[in-house]
Amino acid sequence: MLARCARDRDDLFAELYALRPQFAEQRPSKFLKAAIRTVCGFRVAPRVLFPGQLALCDFQSKIVYYNSNLESFVNQKTSLAGLVNSSLAHELGHIRLHTDEMESRHTESYHFPDGRVTHVDNRDFQREQEADLYAAVFLVPGRFLVQEKSAQQIYKWHKERKWVKSPQLWKLVYGLARDFEVTPSLMRRCLMEVGWIACDPMPNGGYRLRIRYPEPDFDGEW
Ligand SMILES: [Zn+2]
Repeated sequence: MLARCARDRDDLFAELYALRPQFAEQRPSKFLKAAIRTVCGFRVAPRVLFPGQLALCDFQSKIVYYNSNLESFVNQKTSLAGLVNSSLAHELGHIRLHTDEMESRHTESYHFPDGRVTHVDNRDFQREQEADLYAAVFLVPGRFLVQEKSAQQIYKWHKERKWVKSPQLWKLVYGLARDFEVTPSLMRRCLMEVGWIACDPMPNGGYRLRIRYPEPDFDGEW
């Protein structure tokens, strides 16, 4: 699935760059809405959704809505731009990966900021996971990630098999999330997918991060 998402992202980028060459050197958060509109033919619009719901993709009217009332239910410190980008990229993932499955449904499941989703069946859950992965692959391509000092540091620790405390890693994850205008949890996912960090769930619902040591069979293609 990772390779499929990366391939699709590259196709989408190529299509968009051909139309708008100025995007080629920009981070994907800058042209996410343009990609949804221009390449996929969906409108993007703000709308007051249910409290807790981040975004919504209407496949019949071809509109992606994002919640214009996010500040009413998210933590004050949360970057709203990062949350909107991550939510829209998740919906883009559904458009790119699940259009055939979704077209027969009017809307999709609800998403909550803590990753909770209401599901109807097992495939719903899978689709949510796939859309999250797509969002991460789309918003943080490897070629941009490796240019970042913080990411280079984490990679170095990973190669050196260094022990690093979780708060120190979280600090870098938050910094990278700010730079890419995504949520920290999306950035954490990226660093886990490339195989540089691992995380352990904690009783309070949070995660403890640690450096993941290199494994010979891991290709880490991003
Ligand atoms: Zn979804």
